[in-house]
Amino acid sequence: MPTETFEFQVEARQLLQMMIHSIYSNKDVFLRELISNASDALDKLRLEALRDDTLGADVSDLHIDIEADKDARTLTVRDNGIGMSHDEVVRLIGTIANSGTAKFLKELKEAQDPAAAEGLIGQFGVGFYASFMVADEVTLVTRRAGESKGTRWASTGEGTYTIETADDAPQGTSVTLRLKPADTEDQLFDYTSPWKIKEIVKRYSDFITWPVRMAAEAVEPTADAEDGADGENAESTAPPEPETLNSMKALWARSRDDVSDDEYHELYKHISHDWNDPLETIRMQAEGTFEYQALLFIPSRAPQDLFSQGHKRGVQLYVKRVFIMDDCEALMPEYLRFVKGVVDAQDLSLNVSREILQQDRQIQLMHRRLAKKVLSSIKEMMAAHPERYATFWREFGRVLKEGLLGDFDNRDAILGVSSFATTHDEAEPTTLQQYVERMKEGQQHIFFMTGESRAAIENSPHMEAFRAKGVEVLLLTDPVDEVWVDAVPEFDGKQLRSIAKGEADLDTEEEKKEVEAEREKRQQEFAELLTWMTARLGEDVKEVRLSSRLTVSPACIVSDTHDVTPALQNMYRAMGQ
Ligand code: ADP
Ligand code: MG
Repeated sequence: MPTETFEFQVEARQLLQMMIHSIYSNKDVFLRELISNASDALDKLRLEALRDDTLGADVSDLHIDIEADKDARTLTVRDNGIGMSHDEVVRLIGTIANSGTAKFLKELKEAQDPAAAEGLIGQFGVGFYASFMVADEVTLVTRRAGESKGTRWASTGEGTYTIETADDAPQGTSVTLRLKPADTEDQLFDYTSPWKIKEIVKRYSDFITWPVRMAAEAVEPTADAEDGADGENAESTAPPEPETLNSMKALWARSRDDVSDDEYHELYKHISHDWNDPLETIRMQAEGTFEYQALLFIPSRAPQDLFSQGHKRGVQLYVKRVFIMDDCEALMPEYLRFVKGVVDAQDLSLNVSREILQQDRQIQLMHRRLAKKVLSSIKEMMAAHPERYATFWREFGRVLKEGLLGDFDNRDAILGVSSFATTHDEAEPTTLQQYVERMKEGQQHIFFMTGESRAAIENSPHMEAFRAKGVEVLLLTDPVDEVWVDAVPEFDGKQLRSIAKGEADLDTEEEKKEVEAEREKRQQEFAELLTWMTARLGEDVKEVRLSSRLTVSPACIVSDTHDVTPALQNMYRAMGQ
């Protein structure tokens, strides 16, 4: 097959331009990304070999090799993992599947100054393309396990890439970077320096469960090897033993005191493909008949696709240190789908399938304990780190509230860590607990109103009586708020009441009697008018009555207690119902 030339998809091209001209200060992370991809590829091969014994791939020595050539100014990262077919190379390397990218590029265009652009690279992460921060040409040679022919992909990152058949490609993938000249001049950025490579691997990839190796020659600087007494050994003809650079220790199996926050954060980045530190790290150990360890993370930003159909849950399942699957939905409830991490179970079969997991009683117990643990960690964060909690709530509150609909067991725990916009304070949301503590003498209920925005609710005539009396109202503006308020009967013995439904129960019993008497009197005065109006409005209303709830507006429309609210009507309409 001759060499074919392809154009990068538009988004990919834009991203590459960014990388080429990047001033992103933390260029070292390109190596982390390559090792992370190689590690994923080894996980996948190991798993596929386990499931398909006709695959015929050698899985006896799975590892990652790093090879630096100072004179040629190249750096190669090689794995003997799953590899890619010709079509996979085109699909996975030539285009960008990540749905966050479009938003990323849009923000990037709007970010005028380089510093803002740099921040954005760090926020979104760019995986394989990060290579173009340090290389002016990247060559990838790969052969998929089970296939006989390999593929060579090459690009300078300038709009096109070439693809040709590579007959002699070993199984797996090698990525060779031709390093930009500037980087080798500066010692700090010499990515062919064994010292530098070792340092980066230690810092970012130490926990990778596969050996990351580098030839010993490269590891020992020649000055050391020539040092006197060892001379005889150095002259030995045996090929140098490669040195393994990473400890390969699973962080979740190490004791808390042994692991630094940075190490946890790097594991998080590997699992989540996020370039930011997580907001919270959660550890859990279960001993006894069903033993497992969990290391979970709450990200600091919601991903773009959190509300789209295809969004995957982020918890990986390991069995006795062996990676089994990504996105293990049996381990986390849907409303905690933003949680990332690893669960390592001791007593499962390596062959366990998603179907089996869904049925397994032990897994269901684990699911429950993990959910509780995440909720209790959020609770602790709320008390100990209010700012972190505020970030959490801004990013994930809408998702968490979905749990109020289905997870009856944890409803109180979820309500306990939820917060809501309120008329009490423009800027600070309130918890239900705080609301209850502020309730007025004689106030029976927790009042709320749902709507599209804070302004829309505040301008609603329904607010008038509450404002006049100084009674606090929660302002609920997320679509999910329309639904959970009906599913949650009460908090702390207080009912939740929509101020847009039925009679607003604002007054004490005495006041109510007075108001009622007054209304009766006036109802009679206005009886004729009301009958006439009811007749005129006909089909459109059930009843026209005098209201005591308005102080400024002449009229407002209310629904019966059991009717759907106007906002919910809009939502149903939008859904085409
Ligand atoms: P991500 O890892 O977040 O998916 P990358 O840009 O790092 O994004 O990689 C894109 C895709 O290319 C990967 O998802 C994987 O399918 C494929 N890929 C990259 N490197 C390798 C590799 N060494 N072996 C096999 N597939 C790879
Ligand atoms: Mg990657």
